[in-house]
Amino acid sequence: MAIASQSSDRAQRPAAPRKPRPKRGEGQWALGYREPLNKNEQFKKDDDALNVRARIENIYAHRGFDSIDPSDLRGRFRWWGLYTQRKPGIDGGRTATLEPEELDDTHFMLRVRIDGGQLTVAQLRAIAEVSTTYARDSADVTDRQNIQLHWIRIEDVPAIWERLEAVGLQTQEACGDCPRVIIASPVAGIAAEEIIDPTPALEEIARRYIGSPDFSNLPRKYKTALTGHPNHDVAPEVNDIAFVGVVHPEHGPGFDVWVGGGLSTNPMLAKRLGVWVSLEEAPDVWWGVTSIFRDYGYRRLRHRARIKFLMADWGPEKFRDVLENEYLKRKLADGPAPEIPAVPGDHVGIHQQKDGRYFVGVAPVVGRVSGTLLGKLADAVEAHGSDRIRTTAHQKLLVLDVEQDQVEPLVATLADLGLHARPSGWRRNTMACTGLEYCKLAIVETKARAHWLIEEMERRIPELDVPITVNLNGCPNSCARIQVADIGLKGQIVLDTEGRQVEGYQVHLGGGLGLDAGFGRKLRGLKVTAEELPDYVERVVRHYLDQREAEERFAQ
Ligand code: SF4
Repeated sequence: MAIASQSSDRAQRPAAPRKPRPKRGEGQWALGYREPLNKNEQFKKDDDALNVRARIENIYAHRGFDSIDPSDLRGRFRWWGLYTQRKPGIDGGRTATLEPEELDDTHFMLRVRIDGGQLTVAQLRAIAEVSTTYARDSADVTDRQNIQLHWIRIEDVPAIWERLEAVGLQTQEACGDCPRVIIASPVAGIAAEEIIDPTPALEEIARRYIGSPDFSNLPRKYKTALTGHPNHDVAPEVNDIAFVGVVHPEHGPGFDVWVGGGLSTNPMLAKRLGVWVSLEEAPDVWWGVTSIFRDYGYRRLRHRARIKFLMADWGPEKFRDVLENEYLKRKLADGPAPEIPAVPGDHVGIHQQKDGRYFVGVAPVVGRVSGTLLGKLADAVEAHGSDRIRTTAHQKLLVLDVEQDQVEPLVATLADLGLHARPSGWRRNTMACTGLEYCKLAIVETKARAHWLIEEMERRIPELDVPITVNLNGCPNSCARIQVADIGLKGQIVLDTEGRQVEGYQVHLGGGLGLDAGFGRKLRGLKVTAEELPDYVERVVRHYLDQREAEERFAQ
């Protein structure tokens, strides 16, 4: 009884006020959190990651792979564009079950940073030679305008840097928690429709800040995009910071600034700050936004460290307020929103430049090329009177400055190389990430499978009258932007009809950029095995073609 009455007394007493639980810090430097809260923050604090170059040149290249300190190998090497590639023969089902070192091959992927995708013939030749000499002839054009090489040995890295740097290329900050390659409109400065040429801002940002210790320790990767082209050719919605060309009614051409876009497992679209920025102001504004990310960005959890999480918590008004008052110490002009294109452009095909010459855009299959092919491309470009090539944010290649009488001969030469200026819609609009062949995070194969899918679809639905984008990823990380594709395919292990675990994809339907900017619907349970991929894509596209109303796009 006594126990019962005690218990009922207790039930009637008002509950003691709970002590508020102290809020855990997010590791923001500006709020005083300077002690590293995870091992990535620790190795970045222990030594500026850019310093690893000296150790590569002076120690590791001489003593070989086994001499590499693990915090350099799996940490700082990335700041110089180096990742260990996946050890061959480990299937995707085992990716999550193994320790990182068990997935490490002794060869590296090397990412060549190509700001703005701008290449001369001499630079293209240098990449081609590095590929054939040191990278087993491998080369992929990425959707961030880089070219990636594989099978690199640590012993060869200093010679590769020497060859690339002799022609003005670099791998510095091609990966890592720092400002990665700055993507820009591949037709910057030449397109007839261009609102503003962002090249001077691109060059100034790169000159001032790439390789600067001020920004070599950001909370996470940081992706920049600039475009003055009305078709928004750099996927600005999904970059950490984007400058998008717009005409201000009083000040004229300049940029609208978007911050906080990114895909991966928590996709978010960038938000407009509502400011108008001139070409001359753009590098300072880039500095301000990047400084905010460095100082206020979250450093406790890696998966919450991108600038998009800070933007999601602050909102664009507070972000702009901090930018103007704490960093720039001045107000920026209010700006109009740019017009949004119905379908963002990829520049494939033959187009006249504003100087009367032409540029030719060609589509390698999902960006897969080779050193030999790039060497032949360099020869072809030179033979037809051009010295400029551009990579695009859609895994494509452009040849600029072609005289009218050279256009068709160049198109024919490139077609002989397998680089088509008039590709099928399937070839043009399919992208794939690196996948199981080389990527340690991959769960499924992507490049070869996308190639097979393209060939199947070209045979099954040869006359496709609308662009339908198909993007394949090898894991949830979204390097190939699956959430913003009409048909996005995220690699995972699925069960086939007999209950066996096989490679397959989670389907995301109806994502897009431009007017249709938004993420595809992840239909619960809609997973396809790799084997049934062409059947599935055919079914869903035929359904759309049969049911669509006039002018209705796939994403609508
Ligand atoms: Fe690797 Fe995944 Fe990125 Fe593909 S999406 S390249 S598998 S990390």
